[in-house]
Amino acid sequence: MDDRLFRNAMGQFATGVTIITSPTEDGVHGMTANAFKSVSLSPKLIAISIDERATMLETIQQSNEFGVSFLSKEQQPISMHFANQKRLEEEVEFTYLDGVPIIPHSLASVVCTVHEMIVAGDHTIFIGAVKDVVVNEGEPLLFYEGRYGTYESIKQ
Ligand code: FAD
Repeated sequence: MDDRLFRNAMGQFATGVTIITSPTEDGVHGMTANAFKSVSLSPKLIAISIDERATMLETIQQSNEFGVSFLSKEQQPISMHFANQKRLEEEVEFTYLDGVPIIPHSLASVVCTVHEMIVAGDHTIFIGAVKDVVVNEGEPLLFYEGRYGTYESIKQ
């Protein structure tokens, strides 16, 4: 099957947008991701999928912990920054939950330790055991057909 056809088909699945964050020796590494899934309620597990070329792969392998922050519609510039699409002019801020960095003012953030790591083709699936969560008010940033959108733009 052609790669483009597969990508187009996957792009028909509308998602939210997250920032994965993980501590490094000299600070924090962040990257944009939409391959996120809630996996289990008891125990509380979530999953993310990281490209073998991403710096984040080695970062999580070393730190053994990561945060996932669900972005609000106002946070598209943060998504673009952490996906190398457009740099933010201002410095990126992080806050900490149970010692794990997260993006402040997100709709919700989850912090995890690595429960299991599964190499799947050219990606690695990290299953995270949830240590803590924080929830805020707001509306989501969405991603569909390779474009950002908002709940309002999709409702029209
Ligand atoms: P880099 O490309 O080195 O870093 C990403 C950017 O973040 C750089 O600009 C870097 O300077 C900046 N940055 C990192 N840490 C900090 C910090 N502490 N302070 C300030 N800036 C910092 N890829 C996947 O593997 N899985 C997915 O699920 C996925 N979903 C995506 C969803 C969307 C909507 C988009 C747009 C992209 C997605 N990507 C996904 C692609 C991924 O975001 C990019 O390939 C990203 O560049 C990979 O990051 P990296 O870890 O290689 O780090």
